Amino acid sequence: MRALVARTLGAPLAIETVPVPAPGAGEILIEVIACGICHSDLHAVDGDWGTPPLMPLIPGHEVAGRVVGVGAGVADVALGELVGVPWMFWSCGTCEWCLAGMETICPSTESTGFSKAGGYAEYMVAPAAFVARLPESVDPVAIAPVLCAGVTTYRGLKRAGLRPGQWLAVLGVGGLGHLAVQYAVAMGLRVVALDVDHEKLALATSLGAEEVVNSADTDPVVAVRDLLGGTHGSIVTAAAPIAFEQAVGVLRPGGTAVYIGLPGHARDTISTSISRLVESEITVRGSNVGTRLDLQEAVDFAVRGQVAATVRVVGLADVNDVFADMCAGRIVGRVVLAHDHGVST
Ligand SMILES: [Zn+2]
Ligand SMILES: [Zn+2]
Repeated sequence: MRALVARTLGAPLAIETVPVPAPGAGEILIEVIACGICHSDLHAVDGDWGTPPLMPLIPGHEVAGRVVGVGAGVADVALGELVGVPWMFWSCGTCEWCLAGMETICPSTESTGFSKAGGYAEYMVAPAAFVARLPESVDPVAIAPVLCAGVTTYRGLKRAGLRPGQWLAVLGVGGLGHLAVQYAVAMGLRVVALDVDHEKLALATSLGAEEVVNSADTDPVVAVRDLLGGTHGSIVTAAAPIAFEQAVGVLRPGGTAVYIGLPGHARDTISTSISRLVESEITVRGSNVGTRLDLQEAVDFAVRGQVAATVRVVGLADVNDVFADMCAGRIVGRVVLAHDHGVST
């Protein structure tokens, strides 16, 4: 099969012909139809995080595909089914966090396209118990971004603990942020979107954001407080550390900021006012991808048509260019890698 492989951290990905993997016990073999290209894939191949990835690495963790093989003991997923594979490849199921329904912070978790081979390949294997079941009605290309960008923003919004009618600030309207706007609107929240790019803000408006603020033109903290008196919640999908500080600044007293973006290891700290956190009873929460339940719920919003990623489709040979566009902030919505199984095996 053809795959995009990283053999050296920081080097461009190369198209290689590698063996089709065999599913082990409890695993399924998936013919990958589409795989979203997430900023985390670039962090992984650049070695931006403290832990190095499996090398050589096949990245990709927004996978939609069809089951073409099943390993021993797989009973709940059938041949021919459409499935999705998220970032959380596997968790142990027995630690205190797994038992508490917080499998996203299981210390033994495996990550798709990081510690396990991912979807930048024509085939991959995954544990049957951790894939999303997708109805035949979905377009694999359209659903792919929901498998990471969608579920991650959806869980972040759940962890913000907001009620319908309350204001949410979405900081960064990229692959994650443009879905955050849609999930928030579907959940009855009112949205102010913040970004430095007019085109991305226009997309946010078209997706239901009632207010937008261009953080390149004005201080967004002052602007949001002037416009709304602050927001009840905020969610940071941007990678710039200043956005994480602004997410606290835009809150009204009692508000909650949720961090889901990842700036990378080299710029991983922020500064914030302790007295503001104390006196205004501000909450700051991290949120890490999503559980299997979050994933199924996030997919269901998309299946019902309440959330739809803005998608551009590319082939294996284009992914290095997509990474360059990503670094330059030139991507509106999500880019999805689609495999052409008809011409290559
Ligand atoms: Zn991702
Ligand atoms: Zn666990």
